[in-house]
Amino acid sequence: MNEIDEYKDILREHGLRVTSKRLGIVSLLKGFDYPVDAKLICEGLCDAGICINLSTVYRALESLVEVGVVRRINFSDDAKVFYELNRGGHRHFLHCMGCDELISLDVCPLSDFQLALAKETKYRVVSHNLDIYGYCPKCQVRK
Ligand SMILES: [Zn+2]
Ligand SMILES: [Zn+2]
Repeated sequence: MNEIDEYKDILREHGLRVTSKRLGIVSLLKGFDYPVDAKLICEGLCDAGICINLSTVYRALESLVEVGVVRRINFSDDAKVFYELNRGGHRHFLHCMGCDELISLDVCPLSDFQLALAKETKYRVVSHNLDIYGYCPKCQVRK
């Protein structure tokens, strides 16, 4: 069974109809290693022959977010929303506030801290968030 078939099964399990736009979004997001915004997804779909308007893209994305196939990422400093395929685990990002570039950090800088904190507080720690903001080299020159 290829990966796209697996996603078809996930959609069906959650009672979502398997549509070309939903599958189109999934296969498009598979090609990205970092979260992208709906506008880029909209353009990518159109390039793949699925031209739908942005609000339809948002609706399709949100239905995928609801069943856990796609993850929505909000950065707290603005209203911009990004989407990525839910590949399990969690990630941390370096976010350029100038051009919205996102770099995924390979390591979790908090894993040791989380363990120590759990030990100290006797909490069962479930998750954490960390994103780092700044300006990339290109945007520093532009400023
Ligand atoms: Zn930048
Ligand atoms: Zn982490």
